[in-house]
Amino acid sequence: MERSDVLIVGGGNAGISLAARLLRDGASDVAVVAPQPVHRYKPLLNYVGAGEATMADLERPMADVVPDGCTWIRDGVEAVDPAAMTLHTRGGRTLHCDTLVLCPGLVEDWEATPGLLQAYADGWVASTYVPGSTPQVWPRLSSVRGGSVVFTVPPEPASCAPTALKPLLMACDSWRRAGVLPSVDVRLVLPAATATGIPEADRYLEETFADYGVEVLREARIVRVDWDTHALQVTSRTGPRILEDIVFAHAVPHYRAPGWIADAGLSAGEASGLVDVDPETLRSRRHESIWAIGDAADLATRPSGGALRKQVDVLARNIAAAQHGEQLKRYDGYTVMPITVSHRKLMLNEVDRDGAASPSVPFLDPFKPRRWPWLFDRYGLPQVYWRRILRGKV
Ligand SMILES: Cc1cc2nc3c(=O)[nH]c(=O)nc-3n(C[C@H](O)[C@H](O)[C@H](O)COP(=O)(O)OP(=O)(O)OC[C@H]3O[C@@H](n4cnc5c(N)ncnc54)[C@H](O)[C@@H]3O)c2cc1C
Repeated sequence: MERSDVLIVGGGNAGISLAARLLRDGASDVAVVAPQPVHRYKPLLNYVGAGEATMADLERPMADVVPDGCTWIRDGVEAVDPAAMTLHTRGGRTLHCDTLVLCPGLVEDWEATPGLLQAYADGWVASTYVPGSTPQVWPRLSSVRGGSVVFTVPPEPASCAPTALKPLLMACDSWRRAGVLPSVDVRLVLPAATATGIPEADRYLEETFADYGVEVLREARIVRVDWDTHALQVTSRTGPRILEDIVFAHAVPHYRAPGWIADAGLSAGEASGLVDVDPETLRSRRHESIWAIGDAADLATRPSGGALRKQVDVLARNIAAAQHGEQLKRYDGYTVMPITVSHRKLMLNEVDRDGAASPSVPFLDPFKPRRWPWLFDRYGLPQVYWRRILRGKV
């Protein structure tokens, strides 16, 4: 049996930045279990889908991002025994730890949308959320000169779902500049009544949808994909509908947490299967040595990479505080939903758990689309991510 003081499941944004931060704070025995050979900075996927970045800009070998001094267990967790604090891996290993942090992200729920997986395999559907298909998105969108195109925003739980609007709105702007927008029927399938649920942000977005002539299907979802006829069966507030002759669909799958979390009794028993934690202290409500952050944790706020900057800080302090019997810090639910409303303008949409504005730059309206946040999101933040966030310096 292999043992560590702190064992982190998942080598994404959450797992790597937390490991780095704990080591910086003086922890000596930190291990990360992560199967994948490549680490991705996911926010850039949407820029690949708009022809503004390449996959090489967002991918690094995992070995390059695992912090010095951290043990990388290249394997996938298959089962957890919370009472014994042991984990079992696909490779047949048994891992034991004193403190366990779960941050394995979400997995695609292909069964939620019959026909969608076949449509991806066929190449008729692609999206920025499914990295294997992302390089196809911009070539497909930029070659559209007319006909019907459909975009979706995935329902919760999903990874920073409103950012799925980025490829839509950047494509509309590019079609307008090419003079073909009037010939393109653009439809958006939204899971809720509005895009973000934040009135200030939705006001700008509704104006933008109207300006580009986007037809919005509200409280809607794709119930079936007829990949061979290129049609989508959709339900919405206004009833069922079949969208036919779709030239291209940027249809994002639905998501859920990995099943072994619920199997271990660590979720609240809901279909999403997220880790049931106190959303402020980030500690499991069922086992005091187990914690969770990131997309797989039920934190009563929209998951995002920006939110992780705060979550990692609170969790690193709380793991130390719990070891010394001190009072725990509280996460206020800060999150961010950056949305590009045109080729070069972006609204940051920084809010707290209650949806109130929570700007990183004081006194600046975080809902107003501007040029500098676009440049920062595309060029500045990736550098901050590789150089500071993944090194536990933020
Ligand atoms: C297309 C897209 C665009 C986005 N845009 C933005 C944005 O503009 N701004 C923003 O703030 N956020 C954005 N996000 C959200 C942000 O990327 C995520 O919130 C963040 O990556 C979550 O990090 P995580 O570590 O929780 O999960 P992930 O990044 O998904 O990492 C989880 C890791 O756990 C590993 N894992 C899974 N199962 C197991 C297992 N059984 N055992 C061991 N390891 C396992 C996975 O391989 C993965 O590496 C975007 C996300 C996507 C998909």
